[in-house]
Amino acid sequence: MKIIKKSNQINSILDQYNNTGFVPTMGTLHDGHISLIKRSKKENSKTVVSIFVNPKQFNKKKDFINYPTKIKNDIILCKKYKVDYLFLPSFNEVYGWKSLKFKYPKMTKFMEHKFRKNHFKGVLDVMSKLLSIVKNTKVYMGEKDYQQLYIIKQFCKINEITSEIIACKTVRSRRGYALSSRNILLNEKYKKIMSLVYKIILNYKLSNKGKIFDVSFLMKQIKKTGVNKIDYIENVNLESFLKSKKVTNHSNIFIAYYLDGVRLIDNI
Ligand code: AMP
Repeated sequence: MKIIKKSNQINSILDQYNNTGFVPTMGTLHDGHISLIKRSKKENSKTVVSIFVNPKQFNKKKDFINYPTKIKNDIILCKKYKVDYLFLPSFNEVYGWKSLKFKYPKMTKFMEHKFRKNHFKGVLDVMSKLLSIVKNTKVYMGEKDYQQLYIIKQFCKINEITSEIIACKTVRSRRGYALSSRNILLNEKYKKIMSLVYKIILNYKLSNKGKIFDVSFLMKQIKKTGVNKIDYIENVNLESFLKSKKVTNHSNIFIAYYLDGVRLIDNI
């Protein structure tokens, strides 16, 4: 595995290949990230992983400062799973050059776009840079961040970006909750609550197919577990990405909530 820190270096190396997979991450890798790496390895001759904690997508400075980093362990994991190139750019390598002007897709002001001001602007800024550096690839991204995935797909379409975005299933712990880099900030007491939240939403979904979505019922149930702050619970159609009145096979229940000051998202 080669570790590369310079944008022009990774750019010119990748020019030699036409079958490359790309897994952009913010590090503190877990089995969710590893599943993306494995899929990219299976479908491409070369795999690039990037680790860059993008300050522009954090709407609160404290959240950026507290974001976990484990670079030594990440390098070991990338070697173990036979990543070909690990791209570790500095802020300047990502942002210190002028790129083409990109169009931003229309974003409905709900869920993450409502509660994290400028978050998606920051996500699209970093993705436009990364996809200009690591060009013409298949980009593997997780459905755990479904709204992000949806917006990045739209962004690539309207800007005619040649990379293809591939949606990958959410990897969960054996107890149900979605794996996330932020989980290491939480102890066993909170992991029990996370698993209860998952079970409540899953059971609700399974026993209410075809019925009207009742957000207040879910809010009450989830608050009983010890969650004291919920940003939103929404039932969303996965194709149109609009709110869905009924619980169906084509909709997921999206949640953003806090435990011990740590913000968690999932969709089930
Ligand atoms: P992050 O490092 O959190 O920015 O995530 C990097 C990529 O990994 C994104 O495309 C995420 O959606 C994806 N990802 C994060 N957690 C999971 C998970 N539990 N299952 C599948 N993909 C995930």
